[in-house]
Amino acid sequence: MAVLLLLLLLLLFLSVVLSSPSRSMASKTQVGFIGLGNMGRPMAMNLLKHGYPLIATDIFPDSCKELQGLGAQILDSPAEVAENADRIITMLPSSPNVIEVYTGPNGILKKVRKGSLLIDSSTIDPSVSKEMAVAAEKMGAVFMDAPVSGGVGAATSGKLTFMVGGVEEEFAATKELLNCMGSNVVYCGQVGTGQSAKICNNMLLAIGMIGTAETMNLGIRLGLDPKLLAKILNMSSGRCWSSDTYNPVPGVMEGVPSAKNYQGGFGTTLMAKDLGLAQNTASNTKTPIPLGSLAHQIYRMMCARGYASKDFSSVFQFLREEESGQ
Ligand code: NAD
Repeated sequence: MAVLLLLLLLLLFLSVVLSSPSRSMASKTQVGFIGLGNMGRPMAMNLLKHGYPLIATDIFPDSCKELQGLGAQILDSPAEVAENADRIITMLPSSPNVIEVYTGPNGILKKVRKGSLLIDSSTIDPSVSKEMAVAAEKMGAVFMDAPVSGGVGAATSGKLTFMVGGVEEEFAATKELLNCMGSNVVYCGQVGTGQSAKICNNMLLAIGMIGTAETMNLGIRLGLDPKLLAKILNMSSGRCWSSDTYNPVPGVMEGVPSAKNYQGGFGTTLMAKDLGLAQNTASNTKTPIPLGSLAHQIYRMMCARGYASKDFSSVFQFLREEESGQ
């Protein structure tokens, strides 16, 4: 009797293992990537470098050329990617794009394979992440939110920080892929919590950048050399990431957007979007964010005045122009 029971248990175990091969066993099978923009392109390249065969798509065919040259297979729609890969990463501008790519007529969920792992690294509204997770679950797939911090430089060098929300049992499989693109992969809790962490970080980043820009501008008006002022701030209590790593004043640092007429980097439109998300979540939770709200208005104003596609550190130039207009 005991032997029979043991045999039954063994059969049950084998049927479970064989019917759902673990994702880590499938390590180097195809990975899908959707959204090959400033961030998505270098992230996808790092997956290729780690030996993952890649299938990808983007609505702008030009965005796909570089990856195609490196061996990625380019398909026409998110649905086609979902037909051919059971692990997919999306890196899209904002909530409406994510809704379209997952639930649109040619979206991932039209053709998703059962058991697929869908990881969204876009910065979007946490409530949209939750909706996507419910929609994915209905199709037998798992959706995780995994927004990033670090910018294009970190995306290129594989040193992004990922903030992950979703079912904890799927974190190991998610981390296996994200480790190829980042140096920190942090589990935050249920789906949407990765987005919450990201929104908080970016609100502080925006406030810090505006503070750095207006401080540097005041110092320059007081006759200080900008490089000297930055050096002093960076050895004093005013130091922050915007002053010591991404200084907004042209000529203070090499290799940052302020040294390249604010080209590349993190667009002002994207920062305005993230501050809008902070504003929505703060209103929903009745949380006071006076500085976050002001930062939102400043970045919205910049978008309306021709700064939309410049890096968000161009708030320094915006303040200079405001002052010369007086
Ligand atoms: P991006 O605009 O450069 O790239 C987005 C890509 O998505 C574009 O190539 C676009 O064509 C593609 N896309 C849009 N809709 C699509 C669709 N329906 N189907 C297929 N492709 C589609 O943006 P980015 O700078 O790469 O940022 C992506 C996300 O990462 C944003 O949510 C942003 O807030 C976040 N983020 C950006 C940075 C940064 O420094 N740029 C840093 C951290 C986080």
